[in-house]
Amino acid sequence: MAKTVGFNSLLARLQQDFPEITFAEAESFYWSPANQHVMYKQGSRGNAAIFSLLHEVGHANLDHKRYRLDFELLQLESAAWEQAKRLAPRYGITIDEDHIQDCLDSYRDWLYGRSICPTCSSRALQQDDLPQYRCHNCHTIWDVTPSRFCRPYRRQKSTTPTMVFADHKAL
Ligand SMILES: [Zn+2]
Ligand SMILES: [Zn+2]
Repeated sequence: MAKTVGFNSLLARLQQDFPEITFAEAESFYWSPANQHVMYKQGSRGNAAIFSLLHEVGHANLDHKRYRLDFELLQLESAAWEQAKRLAPRYGITIDEDHIQDCLDSYRDWLYGRSICPTCSSRALQQDDLPQYRCHNCHTIWDVTPSRFCRPYRRQKSTTPTMVFADHKAL
């Protein structure tokens, strides 16, 4: 990056360029499709925060709403980074490719961990239409709640849970 773009000046420009997105402070970075909010960590500065902000805008631009299976989450995360890379030059930013791969590797590691049978340690496949894994070896079935990266939340008891896409780097 030739000249460092400040987090706050980037935020101001993004707010101008994407009036359909509401930007708000939170404890971490995430995209909340239910109310079209990009949340950013309070007091952010530095390249990692700048990359995260562009990444969440990437989710917003691509209208990411939900995923069913773990591998779909990885695809959406990867797509959001691709979109962030497309946006970056407009703001004089170059996203470090190593940073992107680190982020995606963390997702891969996390997803891999979820797919290991707690009983016999075989690698399992996620059930096609259920948020569960089933071991082909010992037939153990286990639930995988989309915690940590994508947190389901309920706004009211009656509404169906929606998801947010959280950036692990900020958690
Ligand atoms: Zn993401
Ligand atoms: Zn097993």
